[in-house]
Amino acid sequence: MAMQKVTLIRGDGIGPEVVDAAIEVLDAAGAKIEWEEVLAGLAAHTLSGDPLPDEVLASIARNHTCLKGPVTTPIAGGFASINVALRKQFELYANLRPVRNMPCVASRFEGVDLVIIRENTEGLYSGLEHEVTPGVVESLKIATEKACTRIARFAFEYAAANQRKKITAIHKANIMKLTDGLFLRCAREVAREYGDLVYEEAIVDNASMQLVMNPARFDVLLLENLYGDILSDLCAGLVGGLGLVAGANLGLRDAIFEAVHGSAPDIAGQGVANPTAMLLACLMMLRYIGQEDVAARIQQALVKVYCEKRALTRDVGGASSTRQFAAAVIAALA
Ligand code: ATP
Repeated sequence: MAMQKVTLIRGDGIGPEVVDAAIEVLDAAGAKIEWEEVLAGLAAHTLSGDPLPDEVLASIARNHTCLKGPVTTPIAGGFASINVALRKQFELYANLRPVRNMPCVASRFEGVDLVIIRENTEGLYSGLEHEVTPGVVESLKIATEKACTRIARFAFEYAAANQRKKITAIHKANIMKLTDGLFLRCAREVAREYGDLVYEEAIVDNASMQLVMNPARFDVLLLENLYGDILSDLCAGLVGGLGLVAGANLGLRDAIFEAVHGSAPDIAGQGVANPTAMLLACLMMLRYIGQEDVAARIQQALVKVYCEKRALTRDVGGASSTRQFAAAVIAALA
């Protein structure tokens, strides 16, 4: 099999630790990838004053596939989110986050098997904020028929192609009658074309309660940007935490794979972060670029390590380091 060129952003905080661990496993499993590393985020900002240098954009445009470690987004000020900028730049309109129990990991629920499909380009992430007058600020929530329809179509297509049964559109259209109203209207229109799939709607607050009481009642969740962000972390909590959930940002031409978690500055530099989420992002990427066999081998090894409770990291009840965990996965490769 030919080598596949992939852009690599190691990221900030725990990013380089979990990315390096994941790449060690990929190399050991025989993934045919040639990495093209570029610097983005806080690391790039510190070095050159630019958190998203042109060479990052050029590399992704050239390779079409990127593996990205978490990058730090400064809170209330500083540079704008690199994640949001990349999603907009490459029109990565769909954020796909499968949430499943990792075998043998104790968590609040068994049998969770959800797929989160989040609109990635608009809503309150449009970055349109301004001060109206001192003491009054405004943030604009944008919804367009084009983006609402295309994410709904993505969700139904995904469900149909992956033997899923039900799609729940999550909204707050009782309050945001125009924006979330449009989101629902587009979802309903698309739903009509997919008679075999069950379509339902749930208000975001009610959906949150139902998710923490009975997640098994959900299948595919279709959400606008902000609700998708919030419920992704909530769903990660259902299956053992942020160390275990990954996602893909997908567009028509390009794809960026990443862990759901952030740069976790509280544990950065300690070598204790769980690299599983980053490894799961790699598995999604390997399947996307046609290296399914390598993905399957790593998946088996990962399950073995969890079920034998060997070398687990602190967040899932162990005491091992990031590197010890990666070494255990490598040792478990068949
Ligand atoms: P962001 O705003 O970038 O999404 P966040 O506020 O969601 O970041 P995270 O960086 O995701 O924050 O971290 C949230 C909590 O989860 C922190 O306590 C962090 O230590 C923990 N955490 C995140 N990722 C991991 C990981 N891979 N392994 C262990 N703990 C993690």
